[in-house]
Amino acid sequence: MSNNQIRVRFAPSPTGDLHLGGARTALFSWAFARHNNGIFLLRIEDTDLQRSTKKAVESIMEGITWLGLIPDETPVYQTNRMERYKEVLQKMLTDGSAYYCYSSPEEIESMRELARKNFLKPKYNGLWRPEKGKQLPEVPKGRNPTIRFKAPQHGVTKWNDIVKGEIIFPNEELDDLIIARSDGTPTYNFCVAVDDWDMRISHVLRGDDHVNNTPKQINILNAMGANIPQYGHIPMILASDGEKLSKRHGAVSVLEYKKLGYLPEAMVNYLSRLGWSHKNDEIFSREELVKWFELKNLSKSSAQWDQKKLNWVNSHYIKNTSSIDLSKMIYQDILEKNIDFNKANLQGIIELFKDRANTLLDLVDSIMIFYLEPTVESLKQINKEDKNILKLFLAEIENIEWQLDNIDMSIKKIINDNNISMKELATPLRIALTGSTKTPSLNKILIVMNKDSVINRIHIAIKTNN
Ligand code: GLU
Repeated sequence: MSNNQIRVRFAPSPTGDLHLGGARTALFSWAFARHNNGIFLLRIEDTDLQRSTKKAVESIMEGITWLGLIPDETPVYQTNRMERYKEVLQKMLTDGSAYYCYSSPEEIESMRELARKNFLKPKYNGLWRPEKGKQLPEVPKGRNPTIRFKAPQHGVTKWNDIVKGEIIFPNEELDDLIIARSDGTPTYNFCVAVDDWDMRISHVLRGDDHVNNTPKQINILNAMGANIPQYGHIPMILASDGEKLSKRHGAVSVLEYKKLGYLPEAMVNYLSRLGWSHKNDEIFSREELVKWFELKNLSKSSAQWDQKKLNWVNSHYIKNTSSIDLSKMIYQDILEKNIDFNKANLQGIIELFKDRANTLLDLVDSIMIFYLEPTVESLKQINKEDKNILKLFLAEIENIEWQLDNIDMSIKKIINDNNISMKELATPLRIALTGSTKTPSLNKILIVMNKDSVINRIHIAIKTNN
């Protein structure tokens, strides 16, 4: 491995499904790694034992796998790394970059209260912070200490953020962070710093809700003598009402989109445009994304979720997927409808509808018209005059061979011989066959629906009382 190798990680906390923001972070990290022949890693940040679940880990794995974002090395689990964290803690205690703090939670609270009263930022007052020549208090008996990081107190911590430009934090504002609780367990920012160091992470791309953690992590990395990765903080995805995207706005879990019938290629394409762009390109392949993905094209402003656009992108991918592949994708959904269903003409039917479906579920719904007879309610739209026209149609097709040319000729003949418009014939016929006036082209429906079903449905429509 060369020292300059790009190594990026996606580091979800497994407290729920993979949400859209997380998926986008994973996607950007993956695309950046691929573009640079780098390494894409997965780290499961599962130290919060109360909130982390195995189910969430599985669901995150399923989500990134579905999107095709496969890590290049075995995933790292923070819970497997406790020994390593302890080792680093010990080292930091020994070299003086961390210290034991025996202040009780109540004492800490009163320090903060005092700071607040003096209009200062509520902070730990440094009671147990060792300094040259300083006499530390006597260690209280029977109290387990926390371990605090001895943070720099002067100057600034700054970095040149890939997305936001230079970010500066005055060190005075940073607290001596607790890096291990009194039960000995390491805390979040410390673990992240140790992991990024050990995993030789070169770039960290993550949501901008982590900006405040970055100076803490940089200082810990510095104290450990580690390289500092480059950071890029990506603005949140907002809902169309400008608020933070949440369940209130609809599906936020990637796997829900899978269930709703979005194709992974469409999700990858759509998500990548939320906060990143390449010229005015809207539709592009995974390969093009990798080829084009440069960090300089990440956007500083937040992206807005646009369901209509996602539907448009998805419909593009559905349209461009072969009917045979689509039939495999929706087969299970059709089976679950529990209908009497003949597989033989499925592809032909899909061909008729795939140009107009936003999702695979739409596609399934629309092709149902071939398998379910129109409802009596819908057939009631057909009036007496319509029924006469339908009778003419029945008589006309009775003896023809069921081929597109013949069907077209019959339709023309009825229109000409009876001096009616195409609409006068097509509307009742569409309703009789499908229950709806919105259908793909009539002759194609007729050809795909076999002659017996067509005759049968027209008979039923004629018999229905309105
Ligand atoms: N575990 C954090 C999260 O899920 C991400 C931490 C990071 O990327 O540094 O928000």
